Amino acid sequence: MRQYQRIKMEHQDELLLFRLGDFYESFGEDAKLAADILNITLTKKHVAKGKTLPLAGIPYHALDNYLNKLIKAGLKVAICEQMEDPKAAKGLVRREVTRVVTPGTVIEDGILDDQSSNYLACVTRHHGNWGLAMVEISTGALSATEFSGNDARSMLLNELARIRPAELLVSDQDHPQYTGHLKEIFGAGEIMMITPVDDAMVLHDRARMELMDHLSVSSLQGYGAEDSPSAVCAAGAIIRYLRETRKNGLGHIRELRIYSVRDTMILDATTQRSLELVRNSIDNTRAVTLLYQLDHTQTPMGARLIQKWILNPLQDLDLIRERQDAIEGLVSNTVVRNLLRDGLRNVKDLERILGRIHLNTANARDMVMLLGSLKEIPELRSQLLRLEDTRMQELGGKIRTMSFLADRLENAFVPEPPVSVREGGMIRDGYNKDLDDLTGISRGGKDWIAKMRETEIERTGIQNLKIGYNRVFGYYIEVSKANMDKIPGDYIRRQTLTNAERFITPDLKEKEELILGAEENIHQLELEIFHKECHFIIEQTDTLQLLANQLAEIDVLMSLAEAALVGGYVRPLVDGSDGIEILDGRHPVIESTTMSDQPFVPNDVHLDCHEQQIWLITGPNMAGKSTYIRQVALLTLMSHMGSFIPARQARIGLVDRIFTRVGATDFLARGQSTFLVEMIETANILHNASDRSLVILDEIGRGTSTYDGLSIAWAVIEYLHEKPRRRAKTLFATHYHELTELESRFKRIFNYNVAIREADEKITFLYQIVKGGADRSYGIYAAKLAGMPEDTVNRAKEILFNLECMRANGEDVDPEKSQCADIPGSASSVPDQARGSSGTESRGVVQPDLFDTGLPSIFDELLKMDVNELTPVQAIGVLEELVNVLRGMRP
Ligand code: ADP
Repeated sequence: MRQYQRIKMEHQDELLLFRLGDFYESFGEDAKLAADILNITLTKKHVAKGKTLPLAGIPYHALDNYLNKLIKAGLKVAICEQMEDPKAAKGLVRREVTRVVTPGTVIEDGILDDQSSNYLACVTRHHGNWGLAMVEISTGALSATEFSGNDARSMLLNELARIRPAELLVSDQDHPQYTGHLKEIFGAGEIMMITPVDDAMVLHDRARMELMDHLSVSSLQGYGAEDSPSAVCAAGAIIRYLRETRKNGLGHIRELRIYSVRDTMILDATTQRSLELVRNSIDNTRAVTLLYQLDHTQTPMGARLIQKWILNPLQDLDLIRERQDAIEGLVSNTVVRNLLRDGLRNVKDLERILGRIHLNTANARDMVMLLGSLKEIPELRSQLLRLEDTRMQELGGKIRTMSFLADRLENAFVPEPPVSVREGGMIRDGYNKDLDDLTGISRGGKDWIAKMRETEIERTGIQNLKIGYNRVFGYYIEVSKANMDKIPGDYIRRQTLTNAERFITPDLKEKEELILGAEENIHQLELEIFHKECHFIIEQTDTLQLLANQLAEIDVLMSLAEAALVGGYVRPLVDGSDGIEILDGRHPVIESTTMSDQPFVPNDVHLDCHEQQIWLITGPNMAGKSTYIRQVALLTLMSHMGSFIPARQARIGLVDRIFTRVGATDFLARGQSTFLVEMIETANILHNASDRSLVILDEIGRGTSTYDGLSIAWAVIEYLHEKPRRRAKTLFATHYHELTELESRFKRIFNYNVAIREADEKITFLYQIVKGGADRSYGIYAAKLAGMPEDTVNRAKEILFNLECMRANGEDVDPEKSQCADIPGSASSVPDQARGSSGTESRGVVQPDLFDTGLPSIFDELLKMDVNELTPVQAIGVLEELVNVLRGMRP
């Protein structure tokens, strides 16, 4: 207990699992917690006279499973091992914590999802800039970046949303302010551990030293890191933290990659979510996402990389075209494609196998998997060389087959080794002379025992005499009770069972000692050989990591080629123009998941900065508006990945950023008013959209009352149109058919609607985007479809009719008034300047028509405003003012 307490003192923040023989035990409060989370029995241990301590234990071989649950419950777990063989130990067995497992540092196969990356990240601040670093401990990939300027903070949050770290390190002093922000991005349901670290750990000099020491270099210049001090702070802190939590084996972290988020298309958290890129908005899984559609990868490395490609669309035309060329080459060569696919199918997770070897958790099965993968390389290589496209050929030329390693592993390991590395049975005969000798002794002994059975049966006449083995008694001769009278005098009784007796003889014991002695030496020697092989592999780390990256890239390119073939995709022309032109585009996910037997209806789009900047899409609910505008965003994004797209033809000018906002979805779970969130996000777009951006707005303004919402939507579109030098290409879907007025007022706004066919009070959706605005909304039809009582539907129609009459006459709009003609005029409280000038004032009350008449002063104010100068809070203030004025204008 003293040993336990000493160790526990050093691991107060973690749940300590303390190895005692075949169990990991937890004590005291840890035991209560473990019992609760793991649903295991809580018992007591007597520690002193009359004193007990709660105790809960798990069998050592089931550690991964239980660890998984503890980590998922948001705990950190310190694992304390026995550092020497209990049999050989003098006195108390030496014990040490060999690793602390946290969500960002897990490597256990059963806990990690092999399809996605698990990041440990760190955020730091240095001289006003933000630094972000991340590592994938299972593969050793370490990268870092930094953010400066006005939008640094929001860019940092975007990037965090993109990598979704399992654990985030922040310095003690920054800790409190993060928790709220991160909840905002990720939603309450997501687990992300925020770990505060000592402020000193993120100081530049210290972090830099830490990094240089780990990478064994005297300057970080070679990594391009000397000019990115904030990134260095973050990366150094990560290394320090890893050194503290893992006591060994970080040798696979060989590189620091400094990158810039400007090299890829910016996709903020909301856009990622609403486009359902790698997880859907229903249950956060990959079902019904773009990833699901494009992922035909064969290897876990490929599966992880394709996610990165989706979330990091490129900005470099050469790189985009290089990928396109590769895909084109694969699409057109079925033979090679099939052979490559067959080869990749046998390639295992090289990155993580290598990680396990470094982290000392690998076993002989990993070696066999590595071998199996390496065996595929020569064939993969020669197929790649057959492809004419440059990138694939280049990869083929660069790939190292590593046959020396394959041969070595082939000679060393049996094809189906056991899970444990401590029980022998891993190494082939003939690989090591000493091992062969020991095996000879052990086998000789076993043969002798097998023969002994025959001679004993002959000698005693007991036909069913058996020779068996167990851990307690070793080898024994078993004779059934019925044959007791035939037992020879030299048999020594060892154990009595219900129907049989067990005996030994001095000869048998002698052989047993020989066999067991040899086996113990075999286990020892095999383990030594295993470690030697690991060491040899570790020396090849750079080559193997490179190979893993190359295979992942080939796998993803193959996957995109496969998706292109399956979905009938074409190669878009991606260039430096400012337009997006797609003919017969289709939504990649909906077209393949829609239940209806009707084929997906393709649609065109043509957006640019100088003529057709904003398309306003109107149409009834369920007509296909959201599908259409998302489709344009997805096809644009796919084009930037280098992927082919579902369309007949497309030309896509480089887009720096896609913004997507959906009006008033239910974000209440995240603790903010839905409408406020919508407005904050819209403000963000108005501030940040450039003329290279694509803005997708779906029902903005829906979250508040009709007139509020309509006015806001109106102002937003107007702003996007009028913003000097920053004409973001915009698709705006809305059910406010009133907005179609905008087309006649602004040069670059165009009305489109989703065609429907109306006959006998029935609507058929045609899903076709056609020019012109919808002339009314179809909410009542939707109500009817939804099964509302007929009376209610009819009453709604009546009210609508009346409202429309009143509006047409410029009358007070009041659904309670049942007859158009019956409405009497009454005094108005609407201020003069807010009134319309449509000439209807003589009738008394005026419904101020914002859209037909001169702009009220609030719009003048808005037009004067430089939104770039506003903080988000001020912007909300302006919106609030606008809303209040409009509310005041309502009768
Ligand atoms: P809206 O945004 O107008 O309410 P949605 O975009 O959500 O409508 O579309 C409703 C449904 O219509 C989709 O779930 C899909 O099943 C179907 N749909 C949409 N677009 C098409 C299309 N182009 N072809 C065929 N079906 C479509």
